[in-house]
Amino acid sequence: MRSISILGATGSIGASTLDLIRRNRGEWRVVALTANCQARELARLAREFDAELAVVGDESCLGELREALAGSGIEAAGGREALCEAAGRPADLTVAAIVGCAGLGPTMRAIEQGGTIALANKEALVSAGDVMTAAVAHHGATLLPVDSEHNAIFQCLQGNKRSDVSRITLTASGGPLRLWSLDELARATPAQAVAHPNWDMGAKISVDSATMMNKGLELIEAHHLFPVGLDRLRILVHPQSVVHSMVEYRDGSTLAQLGPSDMRVPIASCLAWPERMDTPCLPLDLAGIGELTFFAPDEVRFPATRLAREAAEEGGSAPAVLNAANEVAVAAFLAGQIAFTQISAIVAQTLNRDRPPAPACLEDVMSVDAEARALTAEMLEPA
Ligand code: NDP
Repeated sequence: MRSISILGATGSIGASTLDLIRRNRGEWRVVALTANCQARELARLAREFDAELAVVGDESCLGELREALAGSGIEAAGGREALCEAAGRPADLTVAAIVGCAGLGPTMRAIEQGGTIALANKEALVSAGDVMTAAVAHHGATLLPVDSEHNAIFQCLQGNKRSDVSRITLTASGGPLRLWSLDELARATPAQAVAHPNWDMGAKISVDSATMMNKGLELIEAHHLFPVGLDRLRILVHPQSVVHSMVEYRDGSTLAQLGPSDMRVPIASCLAWPERMDTPCLPLDLAGIGELTFFAPDEVRFPATRLAREAAEEGGSAPAVLNAANEVAVAAFLAGQIAFTQISAIVAQTLNRDRPPAPACLEDVMSVDAEARALTAEMLEPA
């Protein structure tokens, strides 16, 4: 029996992970499950999976969690530090699936334990790239990529030499607004932006997918996970989301990983790694799909990938600023405060300001993040 902790258990990745655990109940012991404020749902999951510990990030929800867990014998805790303590509890596998930079502290604590981390929380790696990869090396931790593209690349790299890679291609569905004009994009509503054609995901990543910032964040994520050089990473729009990414080698061979648009496939690859496990996903029906198409990204209508590439090229604090500005702008869009096209415009404006020096440790990353959030929030205030 292996042990597992899931940070962000009440989210979309959390639900897909728990679905797989539920189908293989005898193989896993659940250590910690966390959420932010969905205390009742967290308590329900903690009871179902007989977790040792349940933690809410928002301390004001701890009373509700305690009440919902009364008599179960499951420990309850709340607050930022409690999330980090939960992440630091020994577990064979930690699934890092908190959304946003809020997941950075807990993910770093799991890395410091030197264990295996299935990383979905891309914002943490984008913000703290060098600091996080240095911690992974220092503590002998293993990062398994959950993101379908990075999981695909990880699989395509197995058994090959990194030095033989000539190019890595990240595929992008292009999101629900892929064919919209700039004028139409300016009027896109949150409901339209989160209505992803292929994937069922949380609200923040769905908006990122619509702006293509998701692919920009993934480019930075790939740069850290697979350091072959930024010039060897490219993005290709592939609306069917069947080819999840590709690795091209110097002899002209391209290896791709294909699969259904169901996050349980890459999650299962992490849960079973280095083995394989069954999933309930339907086999890929390529004859039914019929056609796979590929297009170059349009960075005029969707400038986010350009902004992310420039931030990655600059390095230092730029990726953390990009991520923080994007998180604030996406939240403002979802709250109906700004137009869809303003998301990337605000990120660009924030990046145009003076930047703090490159972060050298976790605290530095947190302070770059906080400063960029404050700056972006200021820009959103009516003049
Ligand atoms: P969701 O919004 O569905 O879930 C987010 C989870 O994080 C919830 O458990 C939520 O708790 C918790 N959470 C939110 N804010 C905080 C906070 N401030 N402190 C502690 N916990 C918090 O997100 P997704 O599952 O869609 O995405 C999770 C991560 O995985 C993101 O980084 C995303 O980019 C990445 N990812 C997601 C994919 C997908 O298909 N969904 C695909 C690839 C990557 P609560 O429910 O209480 O709010």
